[in-house]
Amino acid sequence: MSGHIHTSQCSQLLGNLSEYIDNDLQAELCAENEDHLKDCDNCRIVVNTLRKTVDLYEQTNMKQVELPDAVRERLYLRLELKDFLKKS
Ligand SMILES: [Zn+2]
Repeated sequence: MSGHIHTSQCSQLLGNLSEYIDNDLQAELCAENEDHLKDCDNCRIVVNTLRKTVDLYEQTNMKQVELPDAVRERLYLRLELKDFLKKS
């Protein structure tokens, strides 16, 4: 078992990680990252963790988007959920 190793490939992957997660990376570099991820548990964990964080962040942002009241009202009416509308 080789244990904890840092190679130049790790540095390269970590250097272009945000582009990789965003699928903004050149195909060639992307393929290099994927090859490296097959061999490197450390980088795989980093990528998985970052992906989950990004997903959570995006979900949280979605929840922060408030529907305007008029839109919400129309939507609820259409769904026959108007009893659930909170009149304030
Ligand atoms: Zn690595």
